[in-house]
Amino acid sequence: MQEQQSDIKSADSGPAESGLGKATMEKITSLAKRRGFVFQSSEIYGGQSGAWDYGPLGIELKNRIAAAWWKEMTQLHDEIVGLDAAILMHPRVWEASGHVENFTDPLVDCKKCKNRFRADMIPEENLTSKKCPDCGGELTDTRKFNLMFKTNIGAAEDSASLIYLRPETAQGIYVNYKNIIQSNRMKIPFGIAQIGKAFRNEIVTKNFIFRTCEFEQLEMQYFVKPGTDEEWFNEWRKRRWAYYEKLGVKMDHLRWHQHGPDELAHYAKDAYDIQYLFPMGWRELEGVHNRTDYDLSRHTQYSGKDLQYIDQDNNDRYIPYIIETSAGLTRNVLMILCDAYDEEQIAEKGDADDWRTVLRFHPNLAPITVAVLPLMKKDGLAELAQDIRRELMEDFATDYDQGGAIGRRYRRQDEAGTPFCVTIDYESKDSGSVTLRFRDSMEQVRVNRAELIGRLRKEIKEYKRI
Ligand code: ATP
Repeated sequence: MQEQQSDIKSADSGPAESGLGKATMEKITSLAKRRGFVFQSSEIYGGQSGAWDYGPLGIELKNRIAAAWWKEMTQLHDEIVGLDAAILMHPRVWEASGHVENFTDPLVDCKKCKNRFRADMIPEENLTSKKCPDCGGELTDTRKFNLMFKTNIGAAEDSASLIYLRPETAQGIYVNYKNIIQSNRMKIPFGIAQIGKAFRNEIVTKNFIFRTCEFEQLEMQYFVKPGTDEEWFNEWRKRRWAYYEKLGVKMDHLRWHQHGPDELAHYAKDAYDIQYLFPMGWRELEGVHNRTDYDLSRHTQYSGKDLQYIDQDNNDRYIPYIIETSAGLTRNVLMILCDAYDEEQIAEKGDADDWRTVLRFHPNLAPITVAVLPLMKKDGLAELAQDIRRELMEDFATDYDQGGAIGRRYRRQDEAGTPFCVTIDYESKDSGSVTLRFRDSMEQVRVNRAELIGRLRKEIKEYKRI
Protein backbone atom coordinates (compact mmCIF):
# COMPACT_ATOMS: atom_id res chain seq x y z
CA MET A 1 0.00 0.00 0.00
CA GLN A 2 1.19 3.46 -0.82
CA GLU A 3 1.88 5.62 2.19
CA GLN A 4 -0.42 8.60 2.11
CA GLN A 5 1.28 11.50 0.49
CA SER A 6 0.54 14.88 1.88
CA ASP A 7 1.40 17.79 -0.38
CA ILE A 8 3.19 19.07 2.68
CA LYS A 9 6.56 17.58 3.57
CA SER A 10 8.98 17.42 6.46
CA ALA A 11 11.92 15.47 7.75
CA ASP A 12 9.49 13.48 9.92
CA SER A 13 9.84 10.28 7.95
CA GLY A 14 13.44 9.46 8.91
CA PRO A 15 15.73 7.03 7.11
CA ALA A 16 14.21 4.12 5.23
CA GLU A 17 15.13 0.70 6.51
CA SER A 18 14.92 -2.59 4.72
CA GLY A 19 16.10 -6.16 4.89
CA LEU A 20 14.81 -9.54 5.95
CA GLY A 21 13.77 -9.99 9.53
CA LYS A 22 13.37 -6.27 10.14
CA ALA A 23 10.21 -4.30 10.67
CA THR A 24 9.98 -1.42 8.27
CA MET A 25 7.12 1.01 7.92
CA GLU A 26 6.60 -0.21 4.37
CA LYS A 27 6.22 -3.83 5.45
CA ILE A 28 3.91 -2.93 8.30
CA THR A 29 1.75 -0.71 6.10
CA SER A 30 1.50 -3.43 3.47
CA LEU A 31 0.71 -6.18 6.01
CA ALA A 32 -1.90 -3.90 7.58
CA LYS A 33 -3.69 -3.57 4.27
CA ARG A 34 -3.25 -7.19 3.15
CA ARG A 35 -4.70 -8.58 6.36
CA GLY A 36 -7.38 -5.96 6.94
CA PHE A 37 -5.93 -4.01 9.84
CA VAL A 38 -5.88 -0.55 8.29
CA PHE A 39 -6.99 0.79 4.91
CA GLN A 40 -6.40 4.15 3.33
CA SER A 41 -9.47 6.34 3.73
CA SER A 42 -11.54 6.72 0.53
CA GLU A 43 -8.99 4.62 -1.33
CA ILE A 44 -11.13 4.16 -4.47
CA TYR A 45 -11.05 7.95 -4.89
CA GLY A 46 -7.28 8.09 -4.59
CA GLY A 47 -7.22 8.29 -0.80
CA GLN A 48 -7.77 11.05 1.73
CA SER A 49 -4.56 12.13 3.38
CA GLY A 50 -4.51 12.26 7.17
CA ALA A 51 -7.32 9.72 7.58
CA TRP A 52 -7.36 5.92 7.78
CA ASP A 53 -10.00 3.22 8.13
CA TYR A 54 -9.68 0.33 10.55
CA GLY A 55 -10.61 -3.01 8.98
CA PRO A 56 -11.90 -6.18 10.67
CA LEU A 57 -8.62 -7.05 12.42
CA GLY A 58 -7.70 -3.40 13.03
CA ILE A 59 -10.88 -2.51 14.87
CA GLU A 60 -10.48 -5.59 17.08
CA LEU A 61 -6.90 -4.63 17.88
CA LYS A 62 -7.82 -1.00 18.53
CA ASN A 63 -10.74 -2.01 20.75
CA ARG A 64 -8.53 -4.35 22.77
CA ILE A 65 -5.85 -1.69 23.28
CA ALA A 66 -8.57 0.73 24.37
CA ALA A 67 -10.06 -1.88 26.71
CA ALA A 68 -6.65 -2.63 28.27
CA TRP A 69 -6.08 1.08 28.88
CA TRP A 70 -9.60 1.59 30.23
CA LYS A 71 -9.23 -1.32 32.63
CA GLU A 72 -5.85 -0.06 33.79
CA MET A 73 -7.02 3.51 34.28
CA THR A 74 -10.54 3.03 35.68
CA GLN A 75 -11.31 -0.51 36.85
CA LEU A 76 -8.08 -0.80 38.83
CA HIS A 77 -8.60 2.50 40.66
CA ASP A 78 -11.44 3.43 42.99
CA GLU A 79 -10.78 7.12 42.49
CA ILE A 80 -10.77 7.27 38.68
CA VAL A 81 -14.03 7.48 36.75
CA GLY A 82 -14.85 7.62 33.06
CA LEU A 83 -16.37 10.21 30.79
CA ASP A 84 -17.43 10.47 27.16
CA ALA A 85 -17.72 14.16 26.32
CA ALA A 86 -18.99 15.54 23.00
CA ILE A 87 -16.58 16.33 20.18
CA LEU A 88 -18.36 19.64 19.51
CA MET A 89 -17.88 22.06 22.40
CA HIS A 90 -18.70 25.70 23.06
CA PRO A 91 -16.17 27.82 21.08
CA ARG A 92 -15.24 29.73 24.26
CA VAL A 93 -13.68 26.48 25.56
CA TRP A 94 -10.94 26.83 22.96
CA GLU A 95 -10.36 30.47 23.80
CA ALA A 96 -10.03 29.59 27.48
CA SER A 97 -7.73 26.65 26.76
CA GLY A 98 -5.43 28.83 24.68
CA HIS A 99 -5.94 26.78 21.49
CA VAL A 100 -7.41 29.65 19.45
CA GLU A 101 -4.34 31.75 20.14
CA ASN A 102 -1.55 29.23 20.53
CA PHE A 103 -2.37 25.89 18.94
CA THR A 104 -0.25 26.59 15.91
CA ASP A 105 2.61 25.08 13.99
CA PRO A 106 5.18 27.18 12.16
CA LEU A 107 4.80 26.77 8.42
CA VAL A 108 7.03 27.59 5.45
CA ASP A 109 6.42 27.07 1.72
CA CYS A 110 8.85 26.66 -1.12
CA LYS A 111 8.12 29.25 -3.80
CA LYS A 112 9.63 26.99 -6.46
CA CYS A 113 8.49 23.40 -5.85
CA LYS A 114 5.47 24.47 -3.76
CA ASN A 115 6.25 21.91 -1.06
CA ARG A 116 5.20 22.89 2.42
CA PHE A 117 7.18 22.18 5.59
CA ARG A 118 6.85 22.45 9.35
CA ALA A 119 9.58 24.95 10.15
CA ASP A 120 10.52 23.10 13.34
CA MET A 121 11.10 19.90 11.38
CA ILE A 122 13.56 21.04 8.75
CA PRO A 123 17.26 21.76 9.34
CA GLU A 124 18.01 25.12 10.94
CA GLU A 125 20.39 26.07 8.10
CA ASN A 126 17.54 25.79 5.58
CA LEU A 127 15.52 28.22 7.64
CA THR A 128 18.32 30.75 7.97
CA SER A 129 19.36 30.49 4.34
CA LYS A 130 15.67 30.26 3.28
CA LYS A 131 16.60 27.34 1.02
CA CYS A 132 14.13 24.55 0.33
CA PRO A 133 15.50 21.21 1.63
CA ASP A 134 13.99 19.45 -1.41
CA CYS A 135 14.83 21.62 -4.41
CA GLY A 136 16.99 24.47 -3.10
CA GLY A 137 14.31 27.02 -4.10
CA GLU A 138 13.44 30.05 -1.99
CA LEU A 139 11.38 29.50 1.17
CA THR A 140 8.69 31.92 2.36
CA ASP A 141 8.82 33.56 5.80
CA THR A 142 7.61 31.34 8.64
CA ARG A 143 3.98 31.88 9.52
CA LYS A 144 1.69 30.46 12.17
CA PHE A 145 -0.86 27.87 11.14
CA ASN A 146 -3.69 26.96 13.55
CA LEU A 147 -4.27 23.21 13.68
CA MET A 148 -7.93 23.32 14.71
CA PHE A 149 -10.54 22.26 12.17
CA LYS A 150 -13.32 24.80 11.92
CA THR A 151 -16.87 24.19 10.82
CA ASN A 152 -20.28 25.81 11.26
CA ILE A 153 -23.19 24.72 13.35
CA GLY A 154 -26.73 25.47 12.16
CA ALA A 155 -27.80 26.88 8.81
CA ALA A 156 -25.85 30.15 8.81
CA GLU A 157 -22.17 30.16 7.92
CA ASP A 158 -21.15 33.24 9.87
CA SER A 159 -18.82 33.84 12.78
CA ALA A 160 -21.67 33.29 15.27
CA SER A 161 -22.04 29.70 14.07
CA LEU A 162 -18.30 28.91 14.16
CA ILE A 163 -17.47 25.68 15.95
CA TYR A 164 -14.32 23.56 16.20
CA LEU A 165 -13.71 19.84 16.05
CA ARG A 166 -11.92 19.20 19.35
CA PRO A 167 -8.15 18.96 18.95
CA GLU A 168 -7.81 17.04 22.25
CA THR A 169 -10.14 15.22 24.61
CA ALA A 170 -8.76 16.87 27.77
CA GLN A 171 -10.94 19.98 27.68
CA GLY A 172 -14.11 17.85 27.81
CA ILE A 173 -12.81 16.55 31.12
CA TYR A 174 -11.99 19.98 32.58
CA VAL A 175 -15.39 21.47 31.79
CA ASN A 176 -17.09 18.46 33.44
CA TYR A 177 -14.89 18.38 36.52
CA LYS A 178 -17.52 20.05 38.77
CA ASN A 179 -20.33 17.85 37.41
CA ILE A 180 -18.32 14.77 38.23
CA ILE A 181 -17.39 15.92 41.73
CA GLN A 182 -21.05 16.64 42.45
CA SER A 183 -22.62 13.58 40.84
CA ASN A 184 -20.05 11.07 42.07
CA ARG A 185 -18.94 12.71 45.35
CA MET A 186 -15.30 12.59 44.27
CA LYS A 187 -12.61 13.65 46.70
CA ILE A 188 -9.20 14.88 45.74
CA PRO A 189 -7.02 13.21 44.57
CA PHE A 190 -9.19 11.75 41.82
CA GLY A 191 -9.03 11.20 38.08
CA ILE A 192 -11.26 11.30 35.03
CA ALA A 193 -10.46 9.07 32.06
CA GLN A 194 -11.69 9.45 28.53
CA ILE A 195 -11.17 7.77 25.16
CA GLY A 196 -12.24 9.64 22.09
CA LYS A 197 -11.61 11.18 18.72
CA ALA A 198 -9.56 14.31 18.26
CA PHE A 199 -8.85 16.27 15.09
CA ARG A 200 -5.82 18.29 14.07
CA ASN A 201 -5.13 19.84 10.71
CA GLU A 202 -1.59 18.46 10.77
CA ILE A 203 0.87 19.94 8.31
CA VAL A 204 2.59 16.59 8.02
CA THR A 205 0.63 13.34 7.76
CA LYS A 206 3.34 10.83 6.99
CA ASN A 207 4.37 7.53 8.51
CA PHE A 208 1.10 5.68 8.11
CA ILE A 209 -1.14 6.13 11.19
CA PHE A 210 1.56 7.79 13.31
CA ARG A 211 0.38 11.35 12.71
CA THR A 212 -3.07 11.81 11.25
CA CYS A 213 -5.68 14.55 11.10
CA GLU A 214 -8.32 12.35 12.70
CA PHE A 215 -7.12 10.17 15.55
CA GLU A 216 -8.10 8.88 18.97
CA GLN A 217 -6.71 9.71 22.36
CA LEU A 218 -6.49 7.91 25.69
CA GLU A 219 -6.45 10.65 28.31
CA MET A 220 -6.62 10.68 32.06
CA GLN A 221 -6.60 13.91 34.06
CA TYR A 222 -5.73 13.53 37.73
CA PHE A 223 -6.81 16.34 40.08
CA VAL A 224 -4.52 16.91 43.05
CA LYS A 225 -3.92 19.36 45.85
CA PRO A 226 -1.26 21.98 44.97
CA GLY A 227 1.94 21.01 46.74
CA THR A 228 1.32 17.29 46.18
CA ASP A 229 1.59 17.64 42.39
CA GLU A 230 5.25 16.68 42.07
CA GLU A 231 4.72 13.51 44.05
CA TRP A 232 1.70 12.55 41.89
CA PHE A 233 3.55 13.46 38.72
CA ASN A 234 6.32 11.01 39.62
CA GLU A 235 3.80 8.39 40.64
CA TRP A 236 1.98 8.61 37.30
CA ARG A 237 5.24 8.41 35.41
CA LYS A 238 5.97 5.15 37.24
CA ARG A 239 2.49 3.78 36.62
CA ARG A 240 2.46 4.57 32.93
CA TRP A 241 5.84 2.91 32.45
CA ALA A 242 4.66 -0.19 34.31
CA TYR A 243 1.56 -0.30 32.10
CA TYR A 244 3.59 -0.81 28.92
CA GLU A 245 5.62 -3.47 30.69
CA LYS A 246 2.38 -5.26 31.50
CA LEU A 247 1.27 -5.05 27.86
CA GLY A 248 4.41 -7.01 26.98
CA VAL A 249 6.01 -4.21 24.94
CA LYS A 250 9.77 -4.48 24.25
CA MET A 251 10.98 -2.26 27.07
CA ASP A 252 14.29 -1.47 25.37
CA HIS A 253 12.18 0.22 22.69
CA LEU A 254 10.79 2.71 25.20
CA ARG A 255 12.50 5.69 26.78
CA TRP A 256 11.67 8.89 28.62
CA HIS A 257 12.19 12.30 27.12
CA GLN A 258 11.91 15.30 29.40
CA HIS A 259 10.66 18.51 27.78
CA GLY A 260 13.41 21.11 27.72
CA PRO A 261 12.68 24.82 28.32
CA ASP A 262 11.99 25.39 24.61
CA GLU A 263 9.46 22.50 24.42
CA LEU A 264 7.67 22.94 27.74
CA ALA A 265 4.19 24.46 27.36
CA HIS A 266 4.05 27.82 29.12
CA TYR A 267 1.56 26.52 31.70
CA ALA A 268 3.35 23.23 32.40
CA LYS A 269 5.58 22.79 35.41
CA ASP A 270 7.17 19.60 34.11
CA ALA A 271 6.54 17.23 31.21
CA TYR A 272 7.92 13.91 30.06
CA ASP A 273 7.14 11.96 26.93
CA ILE A 274 7.32 8.21 26.65
CA GLN A 275 8.97 7.65 23.30
CA TYR A 276 8.94 4.43 21.30
CA LEU A 277 11.59 3.31 18.83
CA PHE A 278 9.42 3.17 15.68
CA PRO A 279 11.04 2.00 12.40
CA MET A 280 11.58 5.70 11.55
CA GLY A 281 13.24 6.43 14.90
CA TRP A 282 12.33 7.50 18.44
CA ARG A 283 8.95 9.23 18.50
CA GLU A 284 6.45 10.34 21.13
CA LEU A 285 3.88 7.78 22.20
CA GLU A 286 2.44 9.36 25.32
CA GLY A 287 2.91 12.49 27.42
CA VAL A 288 2.81 12.81 31.20
CA HIS A 289 2.36 16.46 32.10
CA ASN A 290 2.08 18.56 35.23
CA ARG A 291 -0.41 21.15 33.92
CA THR A 292 -0.58 23.11 37.20
CA ASP A 293 -3.87 24.94 37.89
CA TYR A 294 -3.75 26.59 34.47
CA ASP A 295 -6.73 24.82 32.86
CA LEU A 296 -9.21 25.22 35.69
CA SER A 297 -8.08 28.81 36.37
CA ARG A 298 -8.64 29.73 32.73
CA HIS A 299 -12.06 28.07 32.65
CA THR A 300 -12.96 29.91 35.85
CA GLN A 301 -11.95 33.16 34.21
CA TYR A 302 -13.72 32.53 30.89
CA SER A 303 -16.91 30.88 32.18
CA GLY A 304 -17.31 33.01 35.29
CA LYS A 305 -18.03 29.81 37.26
CA ASP A 306 -16.23 29.05 40.49
CA LEU A 307 -14.20 25.91 39.82
CA GLN A 308 -12.53 25.74 43.20
CA TYR A 309 -12.50 22.44 45.01
CA ILE A 310 -14.04 22.58 48.46
CA ASP A 311 -12.28 20.34 50.91
CA GLN A 312 -14.93 19.95 53.61
CA ASP A 313 -12.74 17.78 55.82
CA ASN A 314 -10.14 20.51 56.18
CA ASN A 315 -12.25 23.55 55.55
CA ASP A 316 -10.08 24.44 52.63
CA ARG A 317 -10.73 25.57 49.04
CA TYR A 318 -8.39 25.72 46.08
CA ILE A 319 -8.05 25.22 42.33
CA PRO A 320 -6.56 21.74 41.91
CA TYR A 321 -3.41 21.03 39.98
CA ILE A 322 -3.76 18.55 37.12
CA ILE A 323 -1.46 15.69 36.24
CA GLU A 324 -2.28 14.50 32.74
CA THR A 325 -1.43 11.22 31.05
CA SER A 326 -2.19 11.60 27.37
CA ALA A 327 -1.58 8.88 24.79
CA GLY A 328 -2.71 8.35 21.23
CA LEU A 329 -4.88 5.26 20.79
CA THR A 330 -4.24 5.08 17.06
CA ARG A 331 -0.55 5.77 17.67
CA ASN A 332 -0.61 2.90 20.19
CA VAL A 333 -2.06 0.67 17.47
CA LEU A 334 0.94 1.49 15.29
CA MET A 335 3.32 0.94 18.20
CA ILE A 336 1.78 -2.46 19.00
CA LEU A 337 1.94 -3.47 15.32
CA CYS A 338 5.61 -2.46 15.07
CA ASP A 339 6.42 -4.06 18.40
CA ALA A 340 4.70 -7.34 17.52
CA TYR A 341 6.08 -7.59 13.98
CA ASP A 342 8.64 -10.32 13.48
CA GLU A 343 10.07 -12.27 10.58
CA GLU A 344 11.47 -15.61 11.59
CA GLN A 345 13.49 -18.10 9.61
CA ILE A 346 11.99 -21.53 10.17
CA ALA A 347 13.61 -23.61 7.42
CA GLU A 348 16.56 -23.54 5.03
CA LYS A 349 15.09 -24.87 1.80
CA GLY A 350 15.96 -21.73 -0.08
CA ASP A 351 12.42 -20.62 -0.89
CA ALA A 352 9.89 -18.10 0.42
CA ASP A 353 8.45 -20.66 2.84
CA ASP A 354 11.69 -20.56 4.84
CA TRP A 355 10.42 -17.42 6.53
CA ARG A 356 7.29 -16.68 8.41
CA THR A 357 5.88 -13.30 9.31
CA VAL A 358 4.41 -13.33 12.76
CA LEU A 359 2.72 -10.69 14.86
CA ARG A 360 3.59 -11.52 18.44
CA PHE A 361 0.66 -9.74 20.08
CA HIS A 362 -0.05 -10.30 23.74
CA PRO A 363 -3.06 -12.70 23.74
CA ASN A 364 -5.11 -10.00 25.50
CA LEU A 365 -4.56 -7.70 22.52
CA ALA A 366 -4.66 -10.17 19.63
CA PRO A 367 -7.68 -9.58 17.34
CA ILE A 368 -8.26 -13.34 17.16
CA THR A 369 -7.40 -15.33 20.27
CA VAL A 370 -7.95 -18.83 18.93
CA ALA A 371 -8.43 -20.23 15.45
CA VAL A 372 -10.09 -23.59 14.94
CA LEU A 373 -8.82 -25.60 11.98
CA PRO A 374 -10.08 -29.00 10.84
CA LEU A 375 -7.27 -31.02 9.31
CA MET A 376 -9.66 -32.08 6.53
CA LYS A 377 -13.08 -30.88 5.49
CA LYS A 378 -14.37 -34.43 5.07
CA ASP A 379 -15.21 -37.33 7.36
CA GLY A 380 -17.06 -35.15 9.85
CA LEU A 381 -13.93 -33.19 10.89
CA ALA A 382 -15.37 -29.86 9.68
CA GLU A 383 -18.58 -30.42 11.66
CA LEU A 384 -16.64 -31.37 14.78
CA ALA A 385 -14.41 -28.30 14.40
CA GLN A 386 -17.47 -26.05 13.99
CA ASP A 387 -18.93 -27.56 17.11
CA ILE A 388 -15.75 -26.90 19.11
CA ARG A 389 -15.56 -23.39 17.73
CA ARG A 390 -19.11 -22.66 18.88
CA GLU A 391 -18.07 -23.76 22.36
CA LEU A 392 -15.04 -21.45 22.37
CA MET A 393 -16.91 -18.46 20.93
CA GLU A 394 -18.56 -17.54 24.23
CA ASP A 395 -15.18 -17.04 25.90
CA PHE A 396 -12.75 -16.05 23.16
CA ALA A 397 -12.48 -14.18 19.88
CA THR A 398 -12.35 -17.08 17.43
CA ASP A 399 -11.79 -17.73 13.78
CA TYR A 400 -12.52 -20.77 11.66
CA ASP A 401 -10.47 -21.73 8.64
CA GLN A 402 -10.79 -24.92 6.62
CA GLY A 403 -9.18 -23.84 3.34
CA GLY A 404 -5.78 -25.05 2.15
CA ALA A 405 -2.86 -26.97 3.62
CA ILE A 406 -2.61 -26.84 7.39
CA GLY A 407 0.88 -25.25 7.26
CA ARG A 408 -0.46 -22.41 5.13
CA ARG A 409 -3.34 -21.90 7.53
CA TYR A 410 -0.93 -21.67 10.47
CA ARG A 411 1.06 -19.02 8.54
CA ARG A 412 -2.10 -17.01 7.90
CA GLN A 413 -2.92 -17.05 11.60
CA ASP A 414 0.70 -16.15 12.50
CA GLU A 415 0.43 -13.12 10.26
CA ALA A 416 -2.81 -12.08 11.94
CA GLY A 417 -1.15 -12.50 15.34
CA THR A 418 -3.43 -15.34 16.54
CA PRO A 419 -1.67 -16.80 19.59
CA PHE A 420 -3.42 -20.21 19.58
CA CYS A 421 -4.65 -22.61 16.93
CA VAL A 422 -6.76 -25.65 17.71
CA THR A 423 -6.52 -28.38 15.11
CA ILE A 424 -9.11 -31.12 14.80
CA ASP A 425 -7.90 -34.43 13.31
CA TYR A 426 -9.00 -38.04 13.15
CA GLU A 427 -7.80 -38.68 16.68
CA SER A 428 -10.11 -35.90 17.86
CA LYS A 429 -13.04 -37.95 16.58
CA ASP A 430 -11.89 -41.02 18.44
CA SER A 431 -10.35 -39.77 21.68
CA GLY A 432 -11.88 -36.30 21.96
CA SER A 433 -8.47 -34.63 22.16
CA VAL A 434 -7.34 -31.75 19.93
CA THR A 435 -3.99 -30.23 18.99
CA LEU A 436 -3.20 -26.89 20.57
CA ARG A 437 -0.57 -25.02 18.59
CA PHE A 438 1.32 -22.03 20.01
CA ARG A 439 2.08 -19.14 17.67
CA ASP A 440 5.38 -18.05 19.22
CA SER A 441 7.13 -21.39 19.71
CA MET A 442 5.12 -23.29 17.05
CA GLU A 443 4.95 -26.10 19.62
CA GLN A 444 1.97 -28.41 19.59
CA VAL A 445 0.40 -30.30 22.48
CA ARG A 446 -2.61 -32.61 22.77
CA VAL A 447 -5.38 -31.35 25.00
CA ASN A 448 -8.67 -32.98 25.93
CA ARG A 449 -11.63 -31.09 24.57
CA ALA A 450 -13.12 -30.81 28.06
CA GLU A 451 -9.96 -29.07 29.31
CA LEU A 452 -9.47 -26.76 26.36
CA ILE A 453 -11.17 -23.62 27.69
CA GLY A 454 -9.38 -23.83 31.05
CA ARG A 455 -6.03 -24.43 29.35
CA LEU A 456 -6.47 -21.46 27.02
CA ARG A 457 -7.38 -19.20 29.96
CA LYS A 458 -4.27 -20.32 31.82
CA GLU A 459 -2.05 -19.78 28.78
CA ILE A 460 -3.42 -16.26 28.33
CA LYS A 461 -2.94 -15.37 31.98
CA GLU A 462 0.60 -16.73 32.12
CA TYR A 463 1.70 -15.51 28.68
CA LYS A 464 5.30 -14.34 28.42
CA ARG A 465 6.77 -13.21 25.17
CA ILE A 466 9.74 -15.31 24.06
P1 ATP B 1 3.35 15.52 18.59
O1 ATP B 1 4.53 16.23 19.19
O2 ATP B 1 3.64 14.12 18.13
O3 ATP B 1 2.59 16.33 17.58
P2 ATP B 1 1.83 16.43 20.79
O4 ATP B 1 2.90 16.68 21.79
O5 ATP B 1 1.20 17.55 20.07
O6 ATP B 1 2.31 15.31 19.76
P3 ATP B 1 -0.24 15.87 22.63
O7 ATP B 1 -1.00 17.08 22.31
O8 ATP B 1 0.49 15.80 23.93
O9 ATP B 1 0.74 15.53 21.45
O10 ATP B 1 -1.21 14.62 22.46
C1 ATP B 1 -1.11 13.47 23.25
C2 ATP B 1 -0.91 12.23 22.42
O11 ATP B 1 -1.86 12.19 21.36
C3 ATP B 1 0.45 12.14 21.74
O12 ATP B 1 1.41 11.60 22.62
C4 ATP B 1 0.17 11.22 20.58
O13 ATP B 1 0.25 9.86 20.98
C5 ATP B 1 -1.28 11.53 20.24
N1 ATP B 1 -1.34 12.41 19.07
C6 ATP B 1 -1.17 13.75 19.05
N2 ATP B 1 -1.31 14.23 17.80
C7 ATP B 1 -1.58 13.14 17.01
C8 ATP B 1 -1.84 12.97 15.63
N3 ATP B 1 -1.87 14.00 14.79
N4 ATP B 1 -2.07 11.73 15.16
C9 ATP B 1 -2.06 10.66 15.99
N5 ATP B 1 -1.83 10.76 17.31
C10 ATP B 1 -1.60 11.98 17.82
